[in-house]
Amino acid sequence: MSALLEVSGVSVTFDGFRAINNLSISIGEPELRAVIGPNGAGKTTFMDIVTGKTRPDEGRVLWGEASQNLLGMSESAIARAGIGRKFQKPTVFEDQTVRENLAMALRNKRGPLNVLFYKTNRQARARIAELADEIGLSDALPRRAGDLSHGQKQWLEIGMLLAQDPRLLLVDEPAAGMTPAEREHTTELLTRAAKTRAVVVIEHDMEFIRRLNCKVTVLHEGSVLAEGSLDHVTQNQEVIDVYLGR
Ligand code: ADP
Repeated sequence: MSALLEVSGVSVTFDGFRAINNLSISIGEPELRAVIGPNGAGKTTFMDIVTGKTRPDEGRVLWGEASQNLLGMSESAIARAGIGRKFQKPTVFEDQTVRENLAMALRNKRGPLNVLFYKTNRQARARIAELADEIGLSDALPRRAGDLSHGQKQWLEIGMLLAQDPRLLLVDEPAAGMTPAEREHTTELLTRAAKTRAVVVIEHDMEFIRRLNCKVTVLHEGSVLAEGSLDHVTQNQEVIDVYLGR
């Protein structure tokens, strides 16, 4: 596993308050990683930095085998470089069918290779079928997205992001508001997606994180407090004091 994303010594100050403090995180490819920590720990700001939404005061964010510097790149250039982000609330086109939503996501995928690859409808249809299978929505392809359950909408949006072939997918609290069965499906979906790319998940639900069965990074006050297996970090006394023991 080689490093795909290398965040090192990054700090962000908002109005004199140090929200991110000398943060260093390395993500491999492929890898599934969970990022946890109390409210205000800096989890969202970490994702904002990686996607170019927030610019740090200091530090480096390097990407890919060429160690491309993401700092200073626009949000759209970073997305084109292969970083996708899923926010907590599902944003699908409710009046369109599942198939149309996936087709739109495919059309939006940029780059010359895509123009060649998805030139014919047949190829696009095959890719849509593949994506629907990957997110477990094959039977729902003709359904209106607005009629899907909350969990199904989340999976559809993940499918729309996968249509862009990201090398790194950032996912914010995917299990929030889901039924146990939906959470189980989401675990499988993310685990499968992380076989061929990097997937970083922010989550609070410890049972869900246990099922992800991946390396965990615990943030606190804008820095890494602990990192390792869930069992390893949950035995760390500082983690218990600031996060688990509350
Ligand atoms: P988390 O996602 O772990 O809950 P955040 O990254 O949202 O934490 O926030 C980290 C800290 O930075 C918090 O104290 C928050 O209030 C502060 N913060 C985040 N964004 C801004 C902003 N745009 N302006 C001022 N403070 C912010």
